[in-house]
Amino acid sequence: MEKTESAIMSETKLPILMTPLPGPRAKAVIARDSQWISPSYTRGYPMVAKSGRGAMVEDLDGNVFLDFAAGIAVVSTGHCHPRVVEAIQKQAAELIHISGTDFYYPNMVEFAERLATVAPGKEPKKVYFGNSGTEAIEAAIKLARYHTRRDKIIAFHGCFHGRTLGALSLTASKAVQRRGFGPMMPGVYHAPYADCYRCPVGLTPHGCAAECLGFIENELLVHLVSPDEVAAIVVEPIQGEGGYVVAPDQFLQRLRELTRNHGMVLVADEVQSGMGRTGRMFAIEFSGVEPDAVAIAKGIASGLPLGVAIARADLMTWPPGAHASTFGGNPVSCAAAVVTLRLIQDSLMANAADVGGHLIAGLRALADKHLLIGDVRGRGLMVGVELVRDRRTKERAGRERDAAVLAAFNRGLLLLGAGVNVIRFSPPLVLTRAQADTAIAVFDEALTEVERAFQ
Ligand code: PLP
Repeated sequence: MEKTESAIMSETKLPILMTPLPGPRAKAVIARDSQWISPSYTRGYPMVAKSGRGAMVEDLDGNVFLDFAAGIAVVSTGHCHPRVVEAIQKQAAELIHISGTDFYYPNMVEFAERLATVAPGKEPKKVYFGNSGTEAIEAAIKLARYHTRRDKIIAFHGCFHGRTLGALSLTASKAVQRRGFGPMMPGVYHAPYADCYRCPVGLTPHGCAAECLGFIENELLVHLVSPDEVAAIVVEPIQGEGGYVVAPDQFLQRLRELTRNHGMVLVADEVQSGMGRTGRMFAIEFSGVEPDAVAIAKGIASGLPLGVAIARADLMTWPPGAHASTFGGNPVSCAAAVVTLRLIQDSLMANAADVGGHLIAGLRALADKHLLIGDVRGRGLMVGVELVRDRRTKERAGRERDAAVLAAFNRGLLLLGAGVNVIRFSPPLVLTRAQADTAIAVFDEALTEVERAFQ
């Protein structure tokens, strides 16, 4: 039975809908869920997963979906890649946990070494292991403070860095994520992000020299905080939760210059944009910038929990006991990560570049037909479509966005929103061109339905 099911799933390329959505089994789970599960989760539509293979997911009622969410950009190698499953099973039968905080084991250092060789920058590095993106950011904040003996941090409007109180204090994505949880960590300042579709200083990307950074140089560091008090600037090279906003190269290059001039640590948050998703191992590579530290999670271990802060070795000098995590870098996650990294290097990063280019071109072509599409942007398989009510005023089409995501779901395509009015396309990196074409066709139909409904 299992075998037949997985064979069907790996051959399936198109969504197959067997029941109205949600089906009866899914409905029963959702009813129980509402009694027992924290109401803080944001489920946009009722998908109750049972199994997954490659870029396809099957629900409890036998409906098969094309997955452009990938568990929030996590299952980089696709659902249940056989080599990842094999590595997890082998490691789980040998040693599940011992704690790298107190003991040694080989695959922790093996993965650290491999990751350090692909991380941006030629200088020697060291790797800290946690369990999530948030923990990777917490580690980077603490490391920057410890190393510089300064306490202030600069982050950006729209950016998302996680939800524990340190990381949350940097997060400035949606007010609901902060509301009711204050006071935040003191000493955090926010600056405008280089959102070229909605330029904060009213320029166009052509010929711009990242003038939006003038706010940091001429306002923040003049009126509010002295540069020699700033430990770090933390930046997403491509904003994820905030709306898949691609920062231009000059923005990141000038940030590098600024941080270097003032002895601040430049932290690249590559939790969402890293691990080959953009067609390069890390999105910051497009700009040629070498950050001092990088936070990584999501796509790093194909779905097992793992978060990493990697930094120049001369920066990661904190002493034993300064920072650690019981579960961080556990052997099973490391086993999955070693195979994941190999698969990304061998073929998936190139596939992300190729199929991503195809996807972006297809989505841009839809803009000729659908006035709702204000902007299509991204790199590789990290693609955002921003919906607007009017292309001139760029009024955000938030309700239309939600309706489009739902309409796609009802046709068998799993999408997620980002920001107020953006739809993100973040499929597994095993996606084929044929699957990209299917998603474009389904999205086309979904937009037609929404445009009619909102006329
Ligand atoms: N940083 C970025 C850029 C993210 O996109 C996320 C999660 O979406 C995080 C940090 C937090 O990661 P996690 O949810 O694994 O804690």
